[in-house]
Amino acid sequence: MRYKSTRGGVSGLSFEEAVMMGLASDGGLLIPEKIPLLNEKDLKHLFELPYTKLAYEIINRYQDGIPSNDLMAIIQKSYAKYDTVNMIPVRKAAGMRIAELYHGPTYSFKDVALQFLGNLFEYILTKKGQKLNILGATSGDTGSAAIYGVKGRKNINVFMLYPANRVSHVQEMQMTTTESPNVFCLEIGGNFDNCQDLVKSTFNDLEFKEELNLGAVNSINWARILAQTVYYFWIYFKTVHRVGDEINIIVPTGNFGNVFAGYLARKMGLPIAKLMIATNRNNILTRTVKFGDYSIERVHPTISPAMDIQIASNFERYLYYLYGGDCEKVTDAMELLRVEKEIDIRGHLLGQLQRDFIAGEASDDDMKDTIRKVFAQSDYMIDPHTACGVYVANQMDIVADNTVCLSTAHPAKFPDVIHEVLGAWPEIPDGLRDLEERQKVSYKIMPELQDLKSFISQHAK
Ligand SMILES: *Cc1c(COP(=O)(O)O)cnc(C)c1O
Repeated sequence: MRYKSTRGGVSGLSFEEAVMMGLASDGGLLIPEKIPLLNEKDLKHLFELPYTKLAYEIINRYQDGIPSNDLMAIIQKSYAKYDTVNMIPVRKAAGMRIAELYHGPTYSFKDVALQFLGNLFEYILTKKGQKLNILGATSGDTGSAAIYGVKGRKNINVFMLYPANRVSHVQEMQMTTTESPNVFCLEIGGNFDNCQDLVKSTFNDLEFKEELNLGAVNSINWARILAQTVYYFWIYFKTVHRVGDEINIIVPTGNFGNVFAGYLARKMGLPIAKLMIATNRNNILTRTVKFGDYSIERVHPTISPAMDIQIASNFERYLYYLYGGDCEKVTDAMELLRVEKEIDIRGHLLGQLQRDFIAGEASDDDMKDTIRKVFAQSDYMIDPHTACGVYVANQMDIVADNTVCLSTAHPAKFPDVIHEVLGAWPEIPDGLRDLEERQKVSYKIMPELQDLKSFISQHAK
């Protein structure tokens, strides 16, 4: 399998090269040259496989450079911290099904992809005798999942910037208590935008970037999409009576990464009837699906902060398919977005978009009401992101036994909202319980590019 850029400036990459490149060097996103198709017989063969074997079968169709045994070992190592037989439980609640994707080490669905990416990086770097310094900025979930993906891995360091006093206490403790010598949490005296600007400026210094082999782990990495595609198959097999039956899936969405993985699963032949996007007040994707209006507004803070996003980076991958694989059209659209802050999708393309997805949005009050109702109805706690999905499913009237809402975070990650709504605290899982007793290690630096660069140079080994 070879990979190319949505903008046409890069092609012929191997899977491993695509993973290491992350963002394509022409500014586009990397995609496979073709999408492997599975027929009913293939699906039947996958039906009862344990999670790791299923992951191998899906991922291996997208690569040919990593020997079978090695790939299987990478996958097994990635999911060893999960209960593999039931790594992602699919429960009946709220009149439909809820897929609990959050049983990884940091209790959000991001672990599924980042555990795999961390091990994959380590494997590729060791083979090539290279070192990688990962640099990122976080306002919460991504930081801890990325850190847990690479902590203790050989040949990788991670430098994670976060705004001092502006991430939740749980999130800060998760990031700063790993005691791993390859993890550097940088507490920045500023806000999240300052952190992001620092990261961008550092990447823009190409000489520095090259010298230190700086890389990113954001959701545009192809390996993350692929690892997420696996669980759409898993969920399908846990839901249907027989192969060929259809299911509907609702995805609480921010960057379009998770929902793109579902789109890919469907393109591979998985019978997903309705693929539904649930957004909070940051509704760029809902506006796009309803009216073809992909225009960037300012970010509104909500109680589902991991979805407080205005630019859905992975949407570019979908645009490539919507434009029939025309890289020039993708390039023009992305240039328009940069300059005019909007893309207008009209006519038959809007029709196609509306056949591919349906979308709806939830306010903070809608999410709170939903947490309350689901608890009353099913004695089951959901976090605000999941509540966004459940609300939109009800609004669109597709609540049914073959409808699955993806649950992206453990309710214990948002104890204050749960307590406000239900008057009770969520049960704290083991991995979050002992955080307070652990030793916090972080480095305070001012938002100055030079300070950041010298810190990285000193600590990158
Ligand atoms: C990151 C995140 C999302 C959004 O996922 P995307 O792939 O960006 O759409 C939703 N819920 C939680 C809890 C998250 O951490």
